[in-house]
Amino acid sequence: MEEKNFEFEKITTHLITSGFVYPSSEIYGGISNTWDYGPLGTNMKNHLKEIWRKHFVSSNMNIFQIDPAIIMNPKVWEATGHIANFHDPLIDCKYCHSRFRADDLIKAQKPELEVDSFSKDELNTIIQSGEISCPKCGKTSFTPIRQFQMMFKTTIGVTEDKASTVYLRPETAQGLFVNFKNVQRTQRAKLPFGICDIGKAFRNEITPGNFTFRMREFEQMEIEFFFKPGEDLKWFEYWKNECLEFVNKIGLDKNKLRFRDHSPKELAFYSKATCDIEYCYPTLGWGELMGIASRTNYDLDRHAKCSNQDLTYLDSSDNSRYLPHVIEPSFGLDRLLLALLCDAYDVEKLAKDERIVMHIDKKLAPYGVAILPLSNKLNDSAREKLWGLISAEYDAVFDTTGSIGKRYRREDAIGTPYCVTFDFDSLEDESVTVRDRDTMAQERVKISDLMKYLYTKFHE
Ligand code: ATP
Repeated sequence: MEEKNFEFEKITTHLITSGFVYPSSEIYGGISNTWDYGPLGTNMKNHLKEIWRKHFVSSNMNIFQIDPAIIMNPKVWEATGHIANFHDPLIDCKYCHSRFRADDLIKAQKPELEVDSFSKDELNTIIQSGEISCPKCGKTSFTPIRQFQMMFKTTIGVTEDKASTVYLRPETAQGLFVNFKNVQRTQRAKLPFGICDIGKAFRNEITPGNFTFRMREFEQMEIEFFFKPGEDLKWFEYWKNECLEFVNKIGLDKNKLRFRDHSPKELAFYSKATCDIEYCYPTLGWGELMGIASRTNYDLDRHAKCSNQDLTYLDSSDNSRYLPHVIEPSFGLDRLLLALLCDAYDVEKLAKDERIVMHIDKKLAPYGVAILPLSNKLNDSAREKLWGLISAEYDAVFDTTGSIGKRYRREDAIGTPYCVTFDFDSLEDESVTVRDRDTMAQERVKISDLMKYLYTKFHE
């Protein structure tokens, strides 16, 4: 297959103009690096969540999905060390005052260095060495690194005093850890088992950007998988494979995916192993899609100590009590969606012109089926005969605007796998024309056979 090489900006412009993503608060001039998902992006996000749920939750007997609160007791973040340590290294160019993350700037200009394992002092030495230049003005003089707290603070209650300071969660994971006992007890769960959720997380990133790759508000799909201590490496390998199988299942290009194991220096002191799955985004290059971390019993231990609660598990096989160890597979929904959209985008040369087509996996596409009456005179009949039938099974769109050729192109450009055209003959022969997005082939199908036909096509 021909290697596709589209500019990131060309793809994101298409996503904005076709209704996948909109600049947030656009009528007020927007707000920097903040995005709203339009109808197409929202549909696709919902499909992605559903496929993630099917793969990791409902097809697995021992994974329980919960929906914890975004604002938690601030003691949670004291216990985990987020209040003390959840910082990014911030620097400003002394000449043009542009602001950067020191580690990102070094990574971009000295890719041979293992920046993720460097301490603040090590980063500072490199920044002040005169070997790193400002990407905006080219000068090499920066302020010393300041640590920038990434958690968003807010207050609860009627007075804005210190006692009521709370934080928007910077990760969904802690809602899972603090509910370990609740889930284990109420669901009579036996190890090994997992708790997971899908929800928003908030980080005051120093350098948000690259469209939806790095935002201040994003969605995570996380699992904490609990097991008997000592089985860490076995379960780590198991979850690595599960995650790889998942990214393959949703159709990401295998050549643009790679595992990146964290080096021993990069690992948190409690972690036995951590690895990321990275995706090669057009123009941006390799970036983290998701992470799999072996967290030992660090989080449960911290919460047990700080809350004074017994979070141990009673193992009925030998009556021993212990804190389970944990593997955490953590997906970023927005980055996954962005990777899928970049992968799917294509501009195909045809005999007379060209078409934009999004080769999105059929089950993930924003709309499964477009219903297209050939003439406005057929709108009522098409709605009556097709809308209820098709929309009961698929996300469908009913489009009556423009020539049929233009409508096909519009559906190709948003990735709709099948267009069902209702024409004047349909009134007589009770049949419709089904057009395939990828091959552009058309087939005449009896309306009475249509759902069976589509089912077969969606499950090919
Ligand atoms: P990065 O190194 O890129 O900042 P991270 O290692 O801090 O990411 P994790 O804390 O491991 O990220 O979060 C798990 C997942 O959440 C990431 O793999 C990513 O997909 C997603 N994620 C993290 N930060 C953001 C963000 N600011 N915007 C969008 N997605 C994010």
